[in-house]
Amino acid sequence: MSEIRMKRGWNVPLSGAPAETVVDAARPVTVSVRPNEFRLVKPRLLVKEGDRVSAGQPLFQDRERAEVQFPSPGGGEVAEVRFGPRRVCEEIVIRLDAQETWAEHRPHSPADARALNRAQVVEMMLDSGLWTSLRRRPFSTIPDPTATPAGIFVAGSDNSPLAASPALAMQGRDEDFQLGVDLLAKLTEGRVHVCLLKGKSVPALVNAQNCEKHTFSGPYPAGLIEAQIHYVLPHKKGREVWYLDCQDVADLGEFARTGRYPVNRVVAVGGEGATSPQHYRTRRGVSCAHLDPKASPAANRFVSGSVLSGTQVRCDSGLGHYDAKFSVIPEGDDADFVGWMLPGEDRVSRFRTFASTLTRPQAPRMTANLNGSVRAHIATGIYEDVCAVDILPAYLMRALHVGDIEEAESLGLEDCAECGLCTFVCPSKIDFQGIIVRGIESVLKEDE
Ligand code: SF4
Repeated sequence: MSEIRMKRGWNVPLSGAPAETVVDAARPVTVSVRPNEFRLVKPRLLVKEGDRVSAGQPLFQDRERAEVQFPSPGGGEVAEVRFGPRRVCEEIVIRLDAQETWAEHRPHSPADARALNRAQVVEMMLDSGLWTSLRRRPFSTIPDPTATPAGIFVAGSDNSPLAASPALAMQGRDEDFQLGVDLLAKLTEGRVHVCLLKGKSVPALVNAQNCEKHTFSGPYPAGLIEAQIHYVLPHKKGREVWYLDCQDVADLGEFARTGRYPVNRVVAVGGEGATSPQHYRTRRGVSCAHLDPKASPAANRFVSGSVLSGTQVRCDSGLGHYDAKFSVIPEGDDADFVGWMLPGEDRVSRFRTFASTLTRPQAPRMTANLNGSVRAHIATGIYEDVCAVDILPAYLMRALHVGDIEEAESLGLEDCAECGLCTFVCPSKIDFQGIIVRGIESVLKEDE
């Protein structure tokens, strides 16, 4: 087991952390999938409103790679297909039947599953839709089934603001996790790497065999898998690595055993706007409105994933395919009277501009309010101070801003962990993350 300490980063202190308890959520009425969250995927719909679907049945496929299919997180009726601007399919909503049906596949005994060869494991993952749990570095796209990664990383840690607990999610899943690791090991020419956070034991992961374990310490993003990969197998031309969440590894083992697409998920709901911040045992594609119906949609912003790098969604939209938490943050539209004069003893700031530097509140307030408009960029060095990977965010942003993709790549665009810290600390309110994402999309389009 290797131990790696990350020195740079920042633990953004926020109120509303989810309690370390798991409660069983009521069965949702609807679940949904958002096709536009998959980078580089051009969805071809396989269903329309009113169709009946089984859990695990493909809802859409990638136009460029028809074998990459996206399964339904539930059985029932396609209640709504939501389209956005230019007819982009934004969400497919399934109204669940009282008695759901399942797309059945062949179950395997653990010994039979372990005897499968690489091609059979790939075929099983493509048939089940679990191939979509994998993402590749750089750029977090779904990998090509014909490629062979230099390693596969399993995310078993989270120290982003309002972090979810992998230990709670993995309770009682030791055997499925081990089977999932054994199957993943057949896909790579290297090792399966399991990444943990120091002091946050996840027994199912700690006890796993046939893998290499790494323990990380330090401020956020030390618990972020994209940053962890940078420290173990940094980006090199022609080398790709794949990664996925520990719940998805256990799902792979469960699918191999049962032949049914696993739909259960442990999901955290946190944030100052959440009325009951805790973990819920629920299912894929559930909405925040279902888990926390009292959180006001008018007063709060709902984010699928971390507040720093997640996606803003409607309160009735489904949880992202790769996310294990909802963050609920007050919009903060109400202006403070003479706010510029207030000491800000409960404000979050990386700079020492508020009285909170002295009062050090345990759970400071944060709203979605930018507290000012975008202004000229100031070279303060604060981005380099929080960036955990070996890049200079200010120079990278400048190259991307003028569309110089070649220069951006030479400055380490491929190494960016998309942690969102540079946007959060920016005193000029510049959306670094948005600029980086648009740059990545340009590179991907060029490569097509
Ligand atoms: S450039 Fe910004 S988003 Fe990328 S790793 Fe550094 S701080 Fe995070």
